[in-house]
Amino acid sequence: METESYKIALEGELTEVTRLLEEVAARDPKDAHNWVPKTDDIAADEADEIDVADKTEAWAERTGEVAELERRYNDVRRALERIEKGTYGICEISGHPIETARLEANLAARTCIAHKDEEDTLS
Ligand SMILES: [Zn+2]
Repeated sequence: METESYKIALEGELTEVTRLLEEVAARDPKDAHNWVPKTDDIAADEADEIDVADKTEAWAERTGEVAELERRYNDVRRALERIEKGTYGICEISGHPIETARLEANLAARTCIAHKDEEDTLS
């Protein structure tokens, strides 16, 4: 795939992840790339029958969902930044080109297949 095709695909994914995030979270006014889970709808649920355990569970679930979407949002956003900088598709650990198959499986991949397990250690 050409870089331009990756860019279009990544922009599409960013739009989709942003849409999903907006359903369950709000942008932090102090940091547009930080998302704060929405809890109003959970708090309003079962207003007359307060079940703290249920709400705690719903909040935990919401927080986990937002954290996962936020991770993807930032990964995709950073991949788009790398396209702008001309470093997209280059392993951040070895500096080697990332295999096409790997990029096609994960457009936001930051490492080649050999350094896949070390991707989580990158900041
Ligand atoms: Zn590598």
